[in-house]
Amino acid sequence: MESSAIKSLEQARRQFSTQHKCEKYLQRLRWPNGITCPRCGTKRPYWLKNQHLWECRSCKYHFSVTAQTIFHRSKLPLPKWFVAIWLMCHSPKGVSAKQLERELGVHYETAWYLAKRIRKAMKHDVFEDRLGGIIEVDDAVVRASGDGPPKGHVKFEGKNVLGVAERGGFLRMMILDGLRARDIKRIIAKNLGDVEEIYSDAASRLFFLAEFGRHQSVAHAYDEYVVDEVHVNTIENAWSLFKRGLVGMYHHVSAKYLQDYLDEFAFRYSHRKEKGKLFDLVLANCSS
Ligand SMILES: [Zn+2]
Repeated sequence: MESSAIKSLEQARRQFSTQHKCEKYLQRLRWPNGITCPRCGTKRPYWLKNQHLWECRSCKYHFSVTAQTIFHRSKLPLPKWFVAIWLMCHSPKGVSAKQLERELGVHYETAWYLAKRIRKAMKHDVFEDRLGGIIEVDDAVVRASGDGPPKGHVKFEGKNVLGVAERGGFLRMMILDGLRARDIKRIIAKNLGDVEEIYSDAASRLFFLAEFGRHQSVAHAYDEYVVDEVHVNTIENAWSLFKRGLVGMYHHVSAKYLQDYLDEFAFRYSHRKEKGKLFDLVLANCSS
């Protein structure tokens, strides 16, 4: 069964009920063009039947389907990983480590670690290619907690976050050290490719965007949000969903891990029109 046909957690549990089923599924997604040595890229390894491993015909590396992936050296069986991935892909606001702990029957620390590794695969996908076409740029302040003691009074700080979105496509959200134009410009330069149009708020710190494409803006300060095609509604919508998720699901996220949560959210948001692909995309991006 394709993962896009899985409609419920129970179905996911049945589909990925054994280590063998999960390995077969992972193999197909990780190596769609044939089994490939993760160390040197050589194809067609030897199968070492007794050791249940492949041996690279070139560099002699012995490997399994999980070698050098987010699952590498994990003591947890793949069925638990796969259910965790399914949950993280199909919960619109995300899943807390507490929920994973319950659903998987694992310790909280294990659940937390799983989620962290899975977010890494999501990040690979979101940051794979440069963004292009019609681009929206906007920034926001996201509330994160400091690194203080986990119990008791939580101190919050506002983090500036830059959103860059392809209209109808990928979204990226990146923490900014400050709102200086040159810092924002550096990040924009790294993320944009072939741009047709670029839309933003009329904030003066974003005027340099004209260097990256035909730039037009709306003046949020004067309550101007949409002028024909010119708006940043894709990102505005993402900010409000992300902030609701942060409060409703995770209660508070420390500044240290905020970028991981932004990546997880951006992954789901970027593929909002093809939700059936999310699970397979995590597995396709599972190299560590
Ligand atoms: Zn090799």
